[in-house]
Amino acid sequence: MFELNKLVRFNISQLKAYSSARDEFSGEAKVFLDANENSLGSPLTKWYNRYPDPHQHAVKLALSAVKGIQPAHIFLGNGSDECIDLLFRCFCEPGKDNVIICPPTYGMYEVSANINDIALKIAPLLPDFQLDLVHIETLVDANTKIIWLCSPNNPTGNSLNRVDMETILNNFNGIVVIDEAYINFAKQQSFIQELAEYPNLVVLQTFSKAWGLAALRLGMAFASTAIIDIMNKVKPPYNINQATQEFALKALEEVGQVNDMIKELVSMRQALAEVFESMPTVEKVYPSDANFILVKIKDARKIYEFLLTKGIVLRDRSSVQLCADCLRITIGTEKENTILVDAMQDWYQVQTIA
Ligand SMILES: *Cc1c(COP(=O)(O)O)cnc(C)c1O
Repeated sequence: MFELNKLVRFNISQLKAYSSARDEFSGEAKVFLDANENSLGSPLTKWYNRYPDPHQHAVKLALSAVKGIQPAHIFLGNGSDECIDLLFRCFCEPGKDNVIICPPTYGMYEVSANINDIALKIAPLLPDFQLDLVHIETLVDANTKIIWLCSPNNPTGNSLNRVDMETILNNFNGIVVIDEAYINFAKQQSFIQELAEYPNLVVLQTFSKAWGLAALRLGMAFASTAIIDIMNKVKPPYNINQATQEFALKALEEVGQVNDMIKELVSMRQALAEVFESMPTVEKVYPSDANFILVKIKDARKIYEFLLTKGIVLRDRSSVQLCADCLRITIGTEKENTILVDAMQDWYQVQTIA
């Protein structure tokens, strides 16, 4: 049985949330003298002298229409990274509880666990980069609060098998986080429509990848209203700044443009994968559902360093378990991809001469 009340940290369940000036009065008024802002304005626009909406009503409403999810099921964080940290702080008792991660995967789950003094249990992905359900099951104990899944996964690029994720959702009585940072580039369906089915599900998405707004720092969590309420209680009152809320609203009017970029990136991903597959020392280009490809190639580290001398930066994952000799390559613009491919030709030239 899934019982949310038993998962929440005791101090959080007892917590009385901070009540901001904007919480205590949020209607229309003629004169706002309640928040110690600078009434005269600011060197920028008049608007920025005021604290932003702590609950981001307008952004959530627009997002609700785009995602088909009620605003009460949406939490907004200062990047997904804030959502990750908050989930630890809501559910995991430092020095006592543990979580399960499945590497190779996104590094922030581990860093955030360490910051919060939460023990990590590790069930590495299988060689095909899928979940090891048997191993995960043996790791679960009474203090296991969260299982972190990332699909499509970073840095491997593949989606996890849906049936495996459903098995975990159906059998684990703690929180299951599915990080869908790259879902827009995948053929697979998001889990956000399954919230009613799984009271233990938290889906993470972000404006940093497909939406092209990494600089704004805006991440989304979708979950039951009960889970969202707990996250809202713990978050800093004004975690999403005014400029970010304004830009996000504008961006949400441009879903068509975002979809066009996604199509273009997916098509360039295919093209770049084919070019790398044809290179003589490439052992494998892993199938990708994301906006990057993982390439297993002889002398990965040397190539990484060679490309650096040409001003091209890839992500060297060659020291990561299961990713030996692997480079992670973000899909660039047409021009950037060409510069990379030309530089790879130079690399092979240098090899034959030497
Ligand atoms: C890039 C990425 C994120 C995004 O984090 P933000 O804080 O929203 O920028 C989240 N999860 C994974 C797996 C990522 O690769």
